[in-house]
Amino acid sequence: MFHRFKIGAMDATIVSDGPLTLPAAPRIFKGPDANALNAAVSAAGQDTAHVRIEQNCLLLETEGRKILFDNGLGSEQLYGPDSGRLLTSLGEAGIDPAGIDALVLTHGHSDHCWGTMGADGTPNFPNATIYMAREELDFWESDPPAERLERSVAGVARHLLPLRERIVFVRDGEEFLPGVQALLTPGHTPGHMAYLFAGNWCLTGDVAFHDPLSYAFPEARSAFDTDREQGVETRKRLLGRLADEHIAVVGYHHPWPGLGRVERTGRTFRFLTGA
Ligand SMILES: [Zn+2]
Repeated sequence: MFHRFKIGAMDATIVSDGPLTLPAAPRIFKGPDANALNAAVSAAGQDTAHVRIEQNCLLLETEGRKILFDNGLGSEQLYGPDSGRLLTSLGEAGIDPAGIDALVLTHGHSDHCWGTMGADGTPNFPNATIYMAREELDFWESDPPAERLERSVAGVARHLLPLRERIVFVRDGEEFLPGVQALLTPGHTPGHMAYLFAGNWCLTGDVAFHDPLSYAFPEARSAFDTDREQGVETRKRLLGRLADEHIAVVGYHHPWPGLGRVERTGRTFRFLTGA
């Protein structure tokens, strides 16, 4: 499944890795009343028994380069049977994985970088340079204490460390590829990066991963964030900026294909589908 559009002069394509099925919203979003969360989910026409989110990978073509942002869950079906479709989606869009020059990662969680290696341990994108924050790789290499992080540590070791010589670290504010600027947005993970394109589009990664809940309840602490308080601060700051500066959004986990805008609604926000 793919969707073509334009980001300024750049050709852009959303390629799907397929959806993930997660626990019900009250098990993920901490703070708000469970009934309020479920009411917002129902009002959006979504199932309250499970949170179901997409994996919308962005491919940008600019100045002769093909740049892929995040690469899905790969061959491991940790969250239901419908993920792992990225290579199929790229094929449908006529894009050869060997022709991808750059792999840009928002962070090191399974659903963002486990498509780096195939099931046989060979790279799915054999000619790609990998771009990410040094803070992110350092964190996963530092043997982080919490038990629930073990699987992510093992995933980074399997998918990224064998390609370490191909990793280029990007700094906050740096335009490291033409028209692509890094924006350090820590909280979900210590080195989470959002990316700004041509100053008027933003790929937000998992700063605000759920439409509508991350917008309607920006102060809810997310069970998926390594620093939940920092996650709240970063989310409120970034969503405020996106709304105030009219920056369009590529939402990785948002309903397909994840494109839209952010609007303030008093102290909370709303995601408006369509860019
Ligand atoms: Zn994610």
